[in-house]
Amino acid sequence: EALNKILDIKGCIRVFCRVRSFLVTGRRVIHEPVLTELEKVVVRSGGSKKEFGFDKVFNQAASQEDVFVEVEPILRSALDGHNVCVLAYGQTGTGKTFTMDGTSDQPGIVPRALEELFRQATLDNSSSVSFSMSMLEVYLGSVRDLLAPKPVFKAYDAATRCNLNIQTDAKGTVEIEGLTEVQIPDFTKARWWYNKGRRVRSTSWTNVNEASSRSHCLMRITIFRHGDGLEAKTEVSKLWMVDLGGSERVLKTGATGQTLDEGRAINLSLSALADVIAALRRKRGHVPYRNSKLTQILRDSLGDGSKVLMLVHASPCEEDVGETICSLSFAKRAR
Ligand code: ADP
Ligand code: MG
Repeated sequence: EALNKILDIKGCIRVFCRVRSFLVTGRRVIHEPVLTELEKVVVRSGGSKKEFGFDKVFNQAASQEDVFVEVEPILRSALDGHNVCVLAYGQTGTGKTFTMDGTSDQPGIVPRALEELFRQATLDNSSSVSFSMSMLEVYLGSVRDLLAPKPVFKAYDAATRCNLNIQTDAKGTVEIEGLTEVQIPDFTKARWWYNKGRRVRSTSWTNVNEASSRSHCLMRITIFRHGDGLEAKTEVSKLWMVDLGGSERVLKTGATGQTLDEGRAINLSLSALADVIAALRRKRGHVPYRNSKLTQILRDSLGDGSKVLMLVHASPCEEDVGETICSLSFAKRAR
């Protein structure tokens, strides 16, 4: 209750920042360009110092558990009937997938969220709750079903379900035509489907990093709250957990051909996302949802009554300072 009040007062969009640890251990770090404070990140570059404020900052020492504790209240509001979006943003290699999926030793937000949803659902005996799951990938403006019955091993083959239509009905509810939606009766089954979706995704790319830097991976949990009695209505809410494509600026890296197209597509959709969030922050005027597939898909979970959590990831390294400043500035636009 109290937590939800705080969330309402502070608005529906929150931005957290997580700064990755130095991966190369043993190498002495002479000076660290990226410093974290309580709710602030300071970046030193070329003699100047830039400061970025966040709702929460996680530094190198933060564990998966530390992150989840802060994310959990927002996830819980999905059970209260809000549409919720958790988005991992940042340059490739900064830990988006680590935060969302994690490893078997250090599970991330998605497996923890699934476990927690089932735990909460059994605690809540005032109504009966059930869940379903969908997973999809957005690549070069097409939408691919990751849980389709016939696994799509060849990426973006026109014959398979790889370019689903997105419709919005009169009530503003988004419908992704033909997207597989599986019932998840318990955590074990949920984890099975989630692993299947991840496997389908990775097998269609030469390597996982390639897939994750050039496409967005979206997971949707639909929550059904069934009331008692004959006239009882079923309330539906959605929880989106999104591992966004790498935010690095491809135009500056000398990319060509396909790579350049992919990078441009990612950059365009990320900037469409930033525009939508900025418009929602201003709380008035036109919200430009139509500018990308990503924002069309998330439309009913970004606007009125929904809760958005942007998790911005940054590198601690000197050589990434340029990208780090870009990512943190993106976040500032959203905040
Ligand atoms: P991204 O998805 O943003 O491209 P990854 O999640 O793949 O980045 O992270 C790159 C590498 O760094 C992976 O090997 C990951 O396990 C590791 N890593 C990222 N963040 C952390 C962290 N906070 N603690 C330990 N290892 C991390
Ligand atoms: Mg990744």
